[in-house]
Amino acid sequence: MSTQVTIGATNRKVLEGGCLWGKVHFKLTDQFNHFHLCHCQQCQKLTGSAFAANIFTAPENIVWLAGDEGVSYYKHPSRGLSKVFCSDCGSALPFVNKIGKALIVSAGSLFDKVEHVPEANFLLV
Ligand SMILES: [Zn+2]
Ligand SMILES: [Zn+2]
Repeated sequence: MSTQVTIGATNRKVLEGGCLWGKVHFKLTDQFNHFHLCHCQQCQKLTGSAFAANIFTAPENIVWLAGDEGVSYYKHPSRGLSKVFCSDCGSALPFVNKIGKALIVSAGSLFDKVEHVPEANFLLV
């Protein structure tokens, strides 16, 4: 489900997302800076998949609607690597990167369809 909101002069869509059962629930504005597919080994390990589909937006572009107390954080002690997930079902959830400049949203954490197309593939290991 999505609704249209007006921010400034342009119409931006509000997208909703959350974990598998919707216990954790959030919304954000469809105002993405980047959409990357990263095939590095780190992302493969963190997602258990062939690549991570990460959307980058502004750190403040999120409203937690429910269940944010049930969010777990893993932060690597030395590398800029984190994973944020539902403590209940393990679903990936958005997080602000280590330097605090971007909110990284797993595309799969969104309930709504993302109309952007990934702009880059990273194949580094
Ligand atoms: Zn990666
Ligand atoms: Zn959950």
